[in-house]
Amino acid sequence: MPKNFKRHLITAALPYANGPVHIGHLAGCFLPADIYVRYLRAKGEDVKFVCGADEHGVPITIRAMKEDKTPQQVVDDFYKIIDTSFKDFGISFDIFSRTSNKEHHETAQAFFKDLYDKNLFEEKESEQYFDEEKQTFLADRYITGTCPKCSNENAYGDQCENCGSALSPEELINPKSALSSSIPIKKKTKHWYLPLQNYEAWLKQWVLEDHKEWKNNVYGQCKSWLEQGLRSRAMTRDSNWGVPVPLPDAEGKVMYVWFDAPIGYISATKELTPHWEDYWKKDDTQLVHFIGKDNIVFHCIIFPAMLKAHGDYILPENVPANEFLNIEGKKVSTSRNWAVWVHEYLEDFPDQQDVMRYVLCANAPENKDNDFTWKDFQERNNSELVAIYGNLVNRVFVLMHKLCGGKVPPFHMDIKDSLDDKLYEKIVTSKKAIEESIDSYKFREGLFQLIDLAREGNKYLQEKEPWKKKDDQKSIDNCLHLGLQLCANLAILGNPFLPHTSQKLCRMMKVVDRMLEWKNAGSIQLLKTGYSLNQPTLLFAKIEDEQIEQQMEKLHANAIAHEESEVPTEAANTNPIKDEIQFDDFSKIDLRSAKIIAAEKVKKADKLLNLTLDLGFEQRTVLSGIAEHYTPEEVIGLEVTLVANLAPRKMRGIESQGMILMTEDADGKLIFVSPKKASKVGSPIH
Ligand SMILES: [Zn+2]
Repeated sequence: MPKNFKRHLITAALPYANGPVHIGHLAGCFLPADIYVRYLRAKGEDVKFVCGADEHGVPITIRAMKEDKTPQQVVDDFYKIIDTSFKDFGISFDIFSRTSNKEHHETAQAFFKDLYDKNLFEEKESEQYFDEEKQTFLADRYITGTCPKCSNENAYGDQCENCGSALSPEELINPKSALSSSIPIKKKTKHWYLPLQNYEAWLKQWVLEDHKEWKNNVYGQCKSWLEQGLRSRAMTRDSNWGVPVPLPDAEGKVMYVWFDAPIGYISATKELTPHWEDYWKKDDTQLVHFIGKDNIVFHCIIFPAMLKAHGDYILPENVPANEFLNIEGKKVSTSRNWAVWVHEYLEDFPDQQDVMRYVLCANAPENKDNDFTWKDFQERNNSELVAIYGNLVNRVFVLMHKLCGGKVPPFHMDIKDSLDDKLYEKIVTSKKAIEESIDSYKFREGLFQLIDLAREGNKYLQEKEPWKKKDDQKSIDNCLHLGLQLCANLAILGNPFLPHTSQKLCRMMKVVDRMLEWKNAGSIQLLKTGYSLNQPTLLFAKIEDEQIEQQMEKLHANAIAHEESEVPTEAANTNPIKDEIQFDDFSKIDLRSAKIIAAEKVKKADKLLNLTLDLGFEQRTVLSGIAEHYTPEEVIGLEVTLVANLAPRKMRGIESQGMILMTEDADGKLIFVSPKKASKVGSPIH
């Protein structure tokens, strides 16, 4: 922190209430924000940590339509899941609000009205895309097409998630309606635009000159945006789901989600404290937005322009955005179910929040995209948390109980040596280094300093060898006295990163939370001589190969089950025919008729059935994503078409040896592609 701030308002990007949270979300903004906030709290700073669910926008209405629910039901369900995940994982928001709240609607409407009354909007009638089949205007998100910048074929009308560019639907190549796949037509409608070009000169000064200290990835994106030149951007949409535009002639119009969502930070603060204005309107407040890279333009350009236009609010002091976290080398995808979900992680690894916190922080995509792999998760746990941190604490406690009667031994100044000095020096310099890292949002670096301090402690024990000094109690005392003070320091310095572990350590040391105050770090008088301590409990447990294999299978099975259940959707039917192939390509596929002779559900996989197929000359095990459409009893005896030479894939520990062809009836139920008359099982299909 370069300046002396009196208070801090820390925000984390509002998660979208259209699905649960995954570890990519955690690594992107929630974990770094939580580390920063816990650090500020430990320093005794006045800090508020606000967040909430972003509950408006098109994907929610699309999901509601697909699932035959109201948008409110969709967001109510996901709000609960998301809120619980954060609580269970230990993301320590002071408030986790929601943008469908009355408070938020009022705040956002007042904000809008303020800008309207100051005549800061442009009112424009324009031609907008309209889906004739569904008789509705299409918000930008409803239109998909090819990104003009990176050629990603699944770009949205407002943004390309592949390259992060903000787009308008007009820029998309081959635009299509996401509701019906029809080609949208243009129709007239009126909207309110924020002329961002009016703020361009000011933004250039504020970002490019006054905030050169921002992270390179953030600064660079802003620079390229500002150099391209800003244009007017519509702040309203045609929809029934969102914050209604508070004007008399605005029926059927709601605010653009990116207008109302960041105002959610303000409404959440309002909901949290009657002194909310101190946090939003006083210059000595540090406002920091933690976000992922896909939100940079909204937090560094559009929202600041809105705040500037309004005039009453402070601006962010920093926007430390992270890049993306991939999983096993592939981009996280909610729609393809390629993700590690937080609530599922906590089911499989209860009380091991800190292991995931550690791994996500160690691999934090702070400057570039980074990769999460289960193998690395295991390795970091076993060879760093268990072997370095956990091992040090355990050794010190076990030896202290064995050689010092379970009490903090005295420190004898007369035999203090250079190794003692070196360890003390390391504690002091580590504190300083960790502070510098956190202050400059380099959380990985801070975490590595922490582990390095524990590593130094192990070295110290190894060099001192108290277990060999049976007849030299004074030497034993000094070593374990310092060892224990080091453990106390690790609890304090590690608390922002690994809070659950620090709590465990406090219980072992029989100290109250107050010891974790940051100012105590660097001291070697934290535990009083003669104070009796508890027996050690293991801070971290080894993670076995089997657990990692299970997670890998789960990851793949989820994705495959999803793929298979998604194949025959409405979109697939109306999609254009795939690219032409040659007969040789087709003849590579070996299709066989087969008979289902046994079927059962697959444990912990709602969509999968485990089928045994008879091909006459052999039997096959095939997993098929049809469990939501058929019971095992219904399918036994059916004749089906099998892709017999598809490479086997392992899911849930079971090898699937082929794929069954399915199509869909008029009601969307999956049906088998079967011969009309009984065929000879195993015979090829040409
Ligand atoms: Zn793109």
